[in-house]
Amino acid sequence: MLGHAQQRGSLVFDVGSFHPSANGMTLFRAREHVVRFRRSASIVGLELPYDDAVLVEAAAAVVRANHAVVEGLIRWSVFYSASEPDLVPASGDTHVLVALQALDEPPSAKPIRVRFFEDARKAAPDVLSPEAKAAAAYLGPLLAKRRAKSAGADEIVLLDQDGNIAEAPTANAFAVVGGALWTPPLRYVLPGITRATVISLASELGIAVREEPLPREAFLNADEAFLTSTSLPLAPIAQINDRELAAPGPITSKLRASLLEAQAQRAAWSTLVQNANASSK
Ligand code: PMP
Repeated sequence: MLGHAQQRGSLVFDVGSFHPSANGMTLFRAREHVVRFRRSASIVGLELPYDDAVLVEAAAAVVRANHAVVEGLIRWSVFYSASEPDLVPASGDTHVLVALQALDEPPSAKPIRVRFFEDARKAAPDVLSPEAKAAAAYLGPLLAKRRAKSAGADEIVLLDQDGNIAEAPTANAFAVVGGALWTPPLRYVLPGITRATVISLASELGIAVREEPLPREAFLNADEAFLTSTSLPLAPIAQINDRELAAPGPITSKLRASLLEAQAQRAAWSTLVQNANASSK
């Protein structure tokens, strides 16, 4: 309990996913998750004494050892092993943990209600980079989400320091306006791997993409809106504050189907964990 990770919130993590495919169980974009994990760790100053291939293989080994047959999540964590009274730990000793996390329930297409508040904002990037997936970074968003839930919503969407839409506590935000997809640029948001995937898929489908500041009014009046994250992976939004939207809209549905297909079938984004024959034994 006296560990630095708990007392100061310095633990850094990343969450990836695994999916059954025709060839067997696969990790989705595992290399990208590991690269982002390393980037977060380096922002916080935690040393990660394993190379990318080892971290990907550790995830594969955990999935194999658990005989996973349905999709689920993989969580890589790194934290100081010693209890450190000082804010800046003197020791560089770190522990790395790779764990399988079952999904509470299979991802659902059920539309969600979101809310934003004028004064519920992301930390300024010069206080804490939005690229750092550090435990402490989630405390402010946790309080904001609780507030949104008390107001009857499922999720909060935080604003950036300029008052534009940023992201949800653990998901990126998208709007569809006039047939184009619109998502805030990376300055204030985590470079979500699902976000990047959806942007690629939209381009393949011929849907225009704007990575530009997203004003609150544009989000509130969007034709469609949704959130993306590894665990969702794409949740249609049926209500923003007091405005209701038809959800899922046609572009949201198209992108969701294409994302689910990519997670299970896109060879270029998959790491095979175990082939189909082996996992059925
Ligand atoms: N933003 C934040 C702050 C997050 O914690 C997450 C979850 N990792 C996301 C966005 C979505 O990222 P991804 O699609 O890589 O899961």
